[in-house]
Amino acid sequence: MADFDFSEDEIQRYARHILLREVGGTGQAKLKAARVLIVGAGGLGSPLGLYLAAAGVGTIGLVDPDVLELSNLQRQVAHTTGRVGSPKVDSAAQAMREINPLVTLNTYNIRLDAANVAGLIAGYDIICDGTDNFETRFLLADACVAGRRTLISAAVLRFEGQLATFKPHADPDGPCYRCLYPEPPPAGLVPSCSEAGVLGAVTGVMGTLQATEVLKEIMGIGESLSGRLIIWDALDMRFRDVRLKKDPACPLHH
Ligand SMILES: [Zn+2]
Repeated sequence: MADFDFSEDEIQRYARHILLREVGGTGQAKLKAARVLIVGAGGLGSPLGLYLAAAGVGTIGLVDPDVLELSNLQRQVAHTTGRVGSPKVDSAAQAMREINPLVTLNTYNIRLDAANVAGLIAGYDIICDGTDNFETRFLLADACVAGRRTLISAAVLRFEGQLATFKPHADPDGPCYRCLYPEPPPAGLVPSCSEAGVLGAVTGVMGTLQATEVLKEIMGIGESLSGRLIIWDALDMRFRDVRLKKDPACPLHH
């Protein structure tokens, strides 16, 4: 460990990572140097934030405009009953800090919009979409293509989850979000979780899968999820793995 600038506390804290041949001190140092932005401190952002903080990702940004409500607690496990009424970014940051005080946390209690998105993502290497509406999803996805940022995107509804990684700047054959969905669906066509419901544990699984892909992308280990879409049906307990191709007619011309 002499080659790495880790304290005794860090060596103990990350011992089970450092034991892994694919991680080791090199991978742990990459995690410490990484900057990850989580958009949405809810059902996906909760396990995602907790695992990234626990893993020692050095700088984590959290974006969410909302205040914690009682109806969030059925799935958003970073939060507590006592923090209902607090900004969700503050509640999630508190949970993450209690797990790992070594991590730098930046909270943004704002709604992502066309005026702030480019500046926000510019400060981070990997962007995680854990939002619950198409307006923010498309805004973020377009900004990631323009800003050449890796986007790891998860979504849940009822008993189903989806996960994909988009990094056309690093994978010339790789698709972006708009290669998959060229336009937002007409308003009201696709219901949201607040309209159609979601099994809480499904968000936990998908947020944890998202965290796993973030850690792999940071360390450059295993196979990237770029170019694939994972669809999980929890009622059938089946995972499907769909090949995604770059669309030559993609409106973003990447
Ligand atoms: Zn595209």
